[in-house]
Amino acid sequence: MQNVLILAELGEGKELKNATLSAIEFGYSCLATVGGSLDILVLGSDTKDAVATLKKHGAGKVIVVEDPAFAHYLAEEYAPTVASIASSYGLLVATATTFGKDLLPRVAARLGAAYATDVSGVVTDGGELSFRRPMFAGNAIGYTTLKTAQKVVTVRQSEVQAHEAGGGESSVETAQRVAPSGNARSRIEHVALETVQSERPDLGDAKIVVSGGRALKERFFEVLEPLANTLGAALGASRAAVDAGYCPGDFQVGQTGKIVAPTLYFAIGISGAIQHIAGMKNSKVIVAINKDPDAPIFQVADYGLVADLFTAVPELVTALKNR
Ligand SMILES: Cc1cc2nc3c(=O)[nH]c(=O)nc-3n(C[C@H](O)[C@H](O)[C@H](O)COP(=O)(O)OP(=O)(O)OC[C@H]3O[C@@H](n4cnc5c(N)ncnc54)[C@H](O)[C@@H]3O)c2cc1C
Repeated sequence: MQNVLILAELGEGKELKNATLSAIEFGYSCLATVGGSLDILVLGSDTKDAVATLKKHGAGKVIVVEDPAFAHYLAEEYAPTVASIASSYGLLVATATTFGKDLLPRVAARLGAAYATDVSGVVTDGGELSFRRPMFAGNAIGYTTLKTAQKVVTVRQSEVQAHEAGGGESSVETAQRVAPSGNARSRIEHVALETVQSERPDLGDAKIVVSGGRALKERFFEVLEPLANTLGAALGASRAAVDAGYCPGDFQVGQTGKIVAPTLYFAIGISGAIQHIAGMKNSKVIVAINKDPDAPIFQVADYGLVADLFTAVPELVTALKNR
C-alpha cells in the first residue's frame, strides 16, 4: 500500500504544463504494482483552470495551495509547502523537467526521503517498487529501490505517455502555504522571467522535432524554420550548435539538454554523438540528413539522406508544400 502524491507543474503559477500528465500516468502504474490511492497537489497563484483539468484524471482528491507567493517558481518558496503536504504520502512524483529536477531533491532532503531522478518505468522487486533508470547516457538501464519509508521520484516525460482524462471527477481540497523559515527566502528574489515567444509547439511536447547541428552555422533559422513551419514542428539543436551561438540554449537536445521522444525527429547536419543520441533515440521515426555517409547518426536513423543540407532541406520544403 503506497499512497502516491503527484506534484503538478504550472507555468508562472497559472497554466498547467502537459508534462504533469506523464507524472500522473506513472503514479497510476505504481499503484497498479503495489496498490494504494493517488492524489494531486497543485501550487500556484491562479490555479482555477489547472484544477479544472486535473479534476478529470480520476485522483482521490486534488489539493490546491493558492497564494500570490507562488506566482513565480522559486524552489525556496515551494519546497516547505510541498514537503509538508507530501509528508503523509509514501511516494511523491513529479515529471523530470527543470521544475521537477530543481524542486524535488530539496523536498526529498526535507523529508529525509531517498530520491531517484529520470525514472523511465517501474516494476516490483520482492513487493517493493523498483525504478528503472537510464545510466551512462542511456547505454545501460539500472533498477533502483529506495530504502526509506517515503520515496521521491522524477519521471521522464519522453518515456511515459500522457495520462488521458477519465476515471471520475476528483474532490478539491484547499491547503495553506507553509512559509519558508529563517533566511531561506530572503536570500533569493525573483527578478524576471524572459521566455522566447513562439508559435511553435514546446520542444518537450512536440510530435515533430526538426533539429540542426553545427553544420547549419549562422544559417540555422534561415534553413530550418521553413521546414519546421511547414510541418508544425518544434526546433531543436545539438550542443555544438547551441555553444556556437546559432540558436538559444533551450533548443539543446541530449544528455545535458532536453530528452525528447516525438513521432518524427529530423537530425540535420548532426553527427550523432552519443550525448545527442541519448536525448532523441526514443523518437518513433528518425530522419537524418548528413553529407558524411559514415556519420554515426545513420546507425539510429530510420531514413537517411546523404546530401548537402543546404540543398536538400529547401528541396524537401518545396516537395512538402507541393503535396
Ligand atoms: C559531458 C558532455 C555532454 C554533452 N551533452 C550534449 C547534449 O546534450 N547534446 C548534444 O547534442 N551534444 C552534447 N555533447 C556534445 C557532443 O559530444 C557533440 O560534440 C555534439 O553533439 C556535436 O554536435 P554536432 O553533431 O552538431 O556537430 P559535429 O559533430 O561537428 O557534426 C556536424 C555534422 O554535420 C555534417 N555536415 C557538415 N556540413 C554539412 C552539410 N553542408 N550538409 C549536411 N551535413 C553536413 C558533418 O558531416 C557532421 O556529421 C556533450 C558532450 C559532453 C562531453
